[in-house]
Amino acid sequence: MFHLSITQEQQSLIRQGKPLLWLNRQYQDSSSAPAKPDVLSIYEAEARLARFAPLLSQLFPELAVSDGIIESPLMPAPHLHQAITPMGARTLIKADHSLPVAGSIKARGGIHEVLCFAEQLALDHQALKDIHDDYQKLLQPEVRSLFGQYEIAVGSTGNLGLSIGIIGAALGFQATVHMSIDAKEWKKERLRKRGVKVIEHNADYGAAVAAGRAEADANPRSYFVDDENSPRLFMGYAVAALRLKAQLEEQQISVDSDHPLFVYLPAGVGGAPGGITFGLKAMFGEHVHCFFAEPVQAPCMLLGMAGRPSAEPVSVYEFDLTIDTEADGLAVGQASQWVCDAIRDQLAGVYTAEDAALYQHLLQLKRLENIEVEPSAAIGCLGPQMLNTPEARAWIRDHQLDEVMDKSTHLIWTTGGSFVPREEYQAFIDKAIRYI
Ligand SMILES: *Cc1c(COP(=O)(O)O)cnc(C)c1O
Repeated sequence: MFHLSITQEQQSLIRQGKPLLWLNRQYQDSSSAPAKPDVLSIYEAEARLARFAPLLSQLFPELAVSDGIIESPLMPAPHLHQAITPMGARTLIKADHSLPVAGSIKARGGIHEVLCFAEQLALDHQALKDIHDDYQKLLQPEVRSLFGQYEIAVGSTGNLGLSIGIIGAALGFQATVHMSIDAKEWKKERLRKRGVKVIEHNADYGAAVAAGRAEADANPRSYFVDDENSPRLFMGYAVAALRLKAQLEEQQISVDSDHPLFVYLPAGVGGAPGGITFGLKAMFGEHVHCFFAEPVQAPCMLLGMAGRPSAEPVSVYEFDLTIDTEADGLAVGQASQWVCDAIRDQLAGVYTAEDAALYQHLLQLKRLENIEVEPSAAIGCLGPQMLNTPEARAWIRDHQLDEVMDKSTHLIWTTGGSFVPREEYQAFIDKAIRYI
């Protein structure tokens, strides 16, 4: 029926909402990738974030310590390593759950895209002479009133809305967030308090995006951040790879043919984990192996990556799934075609997990490493165990990695959580305890 590179047995697991590991047959086969984005764009995004850094540290006092750079720590996770990693030298956590300003991985791409728009607008209206000008000029009342004539809009399951709404409002734009039905109430409340217009849709993420896009199209002064189709978001996310490379060097952790790096990334529509994969491949080439993780009810990137190049990704609804998951950041029914094509030959595979497993790992992260995340962000913890399955072991042999597995590094990307209100987090813990 569909042209999917997924065995019948796996298709039946998907349909039943059961977990599985899918391995990408087009991995490291560059002929399968239609048009690759330009690696130089990653450096352009990094330079843009640096230009805006002095302004950002004025707008967000929490950025004073990092001189306006939004970054998260790379943390060793020795206890988690003991508990979950059956092979490998160490387990690390890339702590985007504590990313300042937006509290999730969406701070990377979302803020970058709004800065792209603000920069262009300021240049067009001579509010900035050129890109070497002092960006703190954008705080002046004349510039804020210019920005105030424009709207920035987005469709979101919650976290992208938070990121775009917070930066948009901080710069003086009118900000409108179209929230899907999965979005948590506290995320909407937090935005409303900042003067962001929140439009609630009684429909899924794809429908919220479509409604937002249509409304923004009708308003010439509206800029729509299109999560399904955005090189600007993607490149903002990709900057994480440059930063991670520096952090690994600082901690004297090698990534080379003797020391492969495995990275486990929660995936929704694909932009955040896709941008990071693209960036990491640019940094480490064949020595890094990225796996995406999705809820069993929303394996949209799995279906997208298993489809044909330049074809519309198959939706999870075709497999009678519901997108019903507590992992609101990952509750997406159809992947971004643009992202699938950009990383067609770069993604090693995708695994899926049940919500119960996410809660177990949410609790484990708290108990073993004192890290507090939202359910979406716990899914990466299943990565190392997934590599211990027979099909993954065969994959490791096929890629001549078995001899170096004991020297490998496993990196779990925790993508959101530090903004979760206390009572909400306690409810996650209570639920996790009930699942055990
Ligand atoms: C959005 C999100 C992701 C995935 O990012 P996509 O760009 O949608 O693939 C992962 N974790 C959290 C917490 C998120 O909010």
